[in-house]
Amino acid sequence: MIDRKEYFKRQIIMRDFGMLSQEKLLASRVVVVGAGGLGHPALVALALAGVGHLTIVDHDRVDVSNLHRQFLFSPKDSGSFKADVAKSRLEVMAPFLTVESMPVMVVPENIIDLIKKADMVLDCSDNFKAKFLIHDACLHLKKKLVQTSIYQYEGQILYFDAQKDSPCLRCLYPEKLSDGCVGNCAEVGVLGATAMAFGSLQAMVAVEALLDRPNIKTGEILTFDLKSMESMKHSFAKKETCAHCTHQKSWEEILLEYQTNYEIDLPNALKAKEQFVWIDIRSSSEIQRDDYLFLNDTPALPLFKVPGLCEALEKHKKYLFFCARGIRSQRLVDELHRKGVANAYSLKGGLSAVRGL
Ligand SMILES: [Zn+2]
Repeated sequence: MIDRKEYFKRQIIMRDFGMLSQEKLLASRVVVVGAGGLGHPALVALALAGVGHLTIVDHDRVDVSNLHRQFLFSPKDSGSFKADVAKSRLEVMAPFLTVESMPVMVVPENIIDLIKKADMVLDCSDNFKAKFLIHDACLHLKKKLVQTSIYQYEGQILYFDAQKDSPCLRCLYPEKLSDGCVGNCAEVGVLGATAMAFGSLQAMVAVEALLDRPNIKTGEILTFDLKSMESMKHSFAKKETCAHCTHQKSWEEILLEYQTNYEIDLPNALKAKEQFVWIDIRSSSEIQRDDYLFLNDTPALPLFKVPGLCEALEKHKKYLFFCARGIRSQRLVDELHRKGVANAYSLKGGLSAVRGL
């Protein structure tokens, strides 16, 4: 049995720390969304600092292209859920930690349940849709949030404490940003050291905020350029017209903003059929000779003939994906939108709707 005081000796003796701070961390519950390049250093730093309970939320699976920066994974973990693998590594590493793994995507329907017990949420996600959703839910439940984003060699960290009367992310960006406007790691690349530096900084902000002495003010942005080594802190003002941080919107009203409508029903799809590139995502064995008669002369392309889908899609075209019942195509289109493809749609009901014509 490891002695706690002995284990944490080096940080307990630090100025401004002591056993009281240590006990506070051990009693803390933190939710980390994203077990990727930022999540790794953040999770390890929090686990080893003695945060008592960590929840790891990530629906993604380990891929070989993650390994150069996501150091908790090894090649044999390929295909496993990141949240599960990270949990098993942290359990071995940190003797005073309880870890929970949630291999799910954060969506409007589950975000409240995922964070409701947390003292603090760390947003280590890589897309704007998740960032706004996590922020809005933290604001609604008055949870502390540290949010980090990186772009190549630069990054920014924001801290929000919704208990305080301070500006929110919606004051900074009244219009939600979409994922098409800034490249993600898969598109523009990322250096492992950049992600590790920002994940560690994020953990440091989280620790100080958990100890109620935040090193970034709520509603303040810390930016750091690791190429020039220049850092800057700047604050932004609360917008009196912001319906979010003035709590004028109910959670139900906020949820409505997240409802996506990428599904097109058959009558509307047929009215505009030449405007779409129709892509059949069923397997070759499901496709029958007369399946595309309803399209008359508009061509349909089976997906198995389109390798590397994301790269193959052109920005100026509109793609309508269809399958047998519209379930697989809806799932694919959700995934494409998450990856920043805005011009992808799903045929509601799939070919079963065609049979009902
Ligand atoms: Zn606001």
